[in-house]
Amino acid sequence: MVKRVKGEAALRIFRRYVPRLRWCPVCGAPVLGRERCPRCGSRTVEVKMAPPGDARPAWPKERRELYEAAKREHGKEAAKRLLGSPSSFALFNPVQGVDAAYEVLVDGHTVGLFFYEPLEDRWRFRPDRVGAEILANEELGTVVETRARLRSGAVLREGLRGEKPGPGNFVVLVGRGPSYGVGRVLEDGAIRVVKAWARNRRIEWRHNPRPLSLDEAVEVNREWLEELEEEATTWLQETIRIHGFWAVSAVSGGKDSTVAASIAMRAGVEHSYSIDTGIEHPESLETIDKIVRALGFTHHEASPGSEAFWRAARLYGPPARDYRWCTKYLKMSVLPRVFSEFPRDKRILVVTGQRGAESTQRALSPRLAESGTAARGRHYVALPIQRWSSLEVYLYIHYRRLPLHPLYLEGFDRIGCYMCPVSRLAEFKIVKKRHPDLWEKWTSFLRSYARRRDLPSEWITLGLWRWRFSYPS
Ligand code: SF4
Ligand SMILES: [Zn+2]
Repeated sequence: MVKRVKGEAALRIFRRYVPRLRWCPVCGAPVLGRERCPRCGSRTVEVKMAPPGDARPAWPKERRELYEAAKREHGKEAAKRLLGSPSSFALFNPVQGVDAAYEVLVDGHTVGLFFYEPLEDRWRFRPDRVGAEILANEELGTVVETRARLRSGAVLREGLRGEKPGPGNFVVLVGRGPSYGVGRVLEDGAIRVVKAWARNRRIEWRHNPRPLSLDEAVEVNREWLEELEEEATTWLQETIRIHGFWAVSAVSGGKDSTVAASIAMRAGVEHSYSIDTGIEHPESLETIDKIVRALGFTHHEASPGSEAFWRAARLYGPPARDYRWCTKYLKMSVLPRVFSEFPRDKRILVVTGQRGAESTQRALSPRLAESGTAARGRHYVALPIQRWSSLEVYLYIHYRRLPLHPLYLEGFDRIGCYMCPVSRLAEFKIVKKRHPDLWEKWTSFLRSYARRRDLPSEWITLGLWRWRFSYPS
């Protein structure tokens, strides 16, 4: 059993195991693993991100929302300077937030934070580090000056120069030192410093966001993707050969399992399986079907049935992040049914798309291990893409023209069941719009549960049902 690791120790693990991303300032393209750009030969620079640093492309719909949010909050000129246009290439690095939140990486720099504000039901953009310094130095957007040295958490009331927007809005701050920061305007007109830092002398101001298609990004990184594929396929082939495994690929419709399935197919694996929990996104079932057909697997499927979840939910209440009865009840319970279709005289190897960047626990998982959930000594799990980054996964999917679950393009980072408690409110909003009937079925269950227990309406509207025992800070 792997221990849960937090804080500095977690950072050290991610630094060791999660691949670093680089950037070619000349091509304006992400470069995987190379110190020199494979296209133009220029020296590449490391992209600095919050750990684990598992950035992915921002999709067209998200880029439009990002641009609109930046324009609304900081003006058109500021949005243009930091983001280029809604079609300029950007990467989103998922970070901790109240709900969905991303570091926005444009032209290899962190220009801001794009996050969903549940209380206001809207996406917001807050400049950060490079973005804020660009706006401050070029006097774009709302810049407020103070004679004080900026400190995170401080409240500034006096000696402020510059026009302030209304309460709740963000401003860029310039203080003594010089120090830079971003602040939020409070109800009484004072400004709370959200974040502050000393001037970053090493920033290059040649910030030039521009469009870059996924085709071009793949082209720049083609060799790297081929090497990754080759390494993973050879490792899997050898693992199967040496241990004499009978292998099967677990397909969920998610991006990581799709890539692992493609590697499995190349390594000679002929079978796949999936579990339909009965509360899947309809798009997941369609995507699984497409993947299985594209890769030519013999597919095995099991399901506890469409009523199983609802029967159990009436008994146990809604599943929660700290009360995931659903995984055991809907998935583990039907696994034996699928496995009964596999050869009984062989050791079974399940190929999955688990990646180290997902959590410290996963970063420390061995690439080949005995399964903790199935028959001991007979079932094993292989992780061919354990060290791949999110960007490598997406570029590989594009490179091999594999089916991509449509919900990623809408803004999902992880695909589970349609009302999975691990989801963010921003994702529920998408489900509600795409499948109002499914969403109504779930919320009517929540409403009747809340009525019986006298729970406030926020328990539903703010998705507080996603925690059973304790809420996060
Ligand atoms: S994906 Fe979410 S809702 Fe579905 S079984 Fe897993 S934890 Fe439960
Ligand atoms: Zn280049």
